[in-house]
Amino acid sequence: MKQMSVAVIGAGMAGVGAARVMAEAGCRVVVFEKSRGLGGRCATKRWEGHLIDHGAQYFTLRNEAFSKAVRECCGADLSEISAPIMDETGRGLPDGGRFFHALGNSRIARALGEGLEFRTGLPVVDVDCRRISGEDFDVVISTAPWPQTAKLAGLAECKNPYAPCLALLLLYRGEWLGVTEGQYAVSDRSGHALAWSACENHKFGRVGKGITAMVVHASEKFSSERLEEDSVGWSEDLRRLVEERWEISPAALLAMHPHRWRYARMMEKIEIPAMPPGWYFAGDLLTESRVESAWLAGRDAALRILNGASDRI
Ligand SMILES: Cc1cc2nc3c(=O)[nH]c(=O)nc-3n(C[C@H](O)[C@H](O)[C@H](O)COP(=O)(O)OP(=O)(O)OC[C@H]3O[C@@H](n4cnc5c(N)ncnc54)[C@H](O)[C@@H]3O)c2cc1C
Repeated sequence: MKQMSVAVIGAGMAGVGAARVMAEAGCRVVVFEKSRGLGGRCATKRWEGHLIDHGAQYFTLRNEAFSKAVRECCGADLSEISAPIMDETGRGLPDGGRFFHALGNSRIARALGEGLEFRTGLPVVDVDCRRISGEDFDVVISTAPWPQTAKLAGLAECKNPYAPCLALLLLYRGEWLGVTEGQYAVSDRSGHALAWSACENHKFGRVGKGITAMVVHASEKFSSERLEEDSVGWSEDLRRLVEERWEISPAALLAMHPHRWRYARMMEKIEIPAMPPGWYFAGDLLTESRVESAWLAGRDAALRILNGASDRI
């Protein structure tokens, strides 16, 4: 019997989850990723000698299958954040285990995808039937955020169900500045522009000596309103807010790096319309925007394809 060939678009958590299941079922699988690295929104920046997560900050291991897969492939690189996350009133938030990869959270995609065939730095721009880069595939599983998938699949313009997120990374001279030592992060759901601010030094071994590294995520409102603006203005506004909140002197600032996440988190579930024959969509949009949920969405989509479910996964 002919071996089924599968193209997976996107090497984020959903792509890696789907590709692994298809490969284990004996399919020939190629994962196409437009960026140079793996991980998608589970992203890490190597910056000035430090490793900073500018996408997913930490991951949970609530699901047994995900926990087992991550523990097996990450081994001693799996670490846990012990300092608390506070809300905007200074109350500690419940902690069910917040994990990170010692070499950067993007590494969990690499670890979970060990042995799979990746073609990175290769954006899929045009899919003629199921022909990608001159190769014909029996099945295409796209894990690119839905508006990008819909465009590739030649579907009519669709609603964007994701909220954007403006992110800012900051480096300061001096270790454990302000109130960074006592808390890992502040999660502010009050509508304040600074929805998330965190001190990366709590991911031990990631930040060099004599430095405080901070990560900031703006609220959905702030991010939506200022997404298309030049980054200088919104970076300055977020910088001022983080320094105020964490009692860090602006004089200690060494460097800033802005990043725009256009499709950061799902805002609403949508009905995925019928795709062209042999096409499937998987990703956090099918469940919720969390690292482990995205991997499970990819894995479950692949299982349903193997079980011969309909085109509408
Ligand atoms: C700022 C931010 C903070 C977050 N914080 C957390 C957190 O702390 N904890 C948590 O659990 N979750 C967090 N999340 C959510 C989590 O990161 C996502 O839900 C999850 O990583 C989504 O995985 P995915 O595989 O569905 O999509 P993605 O990670 O977006 O993967 C899709 C991949 O497709 C690729 N792609 C797109 N178009 C093409 C193309 N044409 N050709 C080839 N490749 C293409 C992209 O480059 C990308 O790698 C956060 C997300 C963001 C943005």
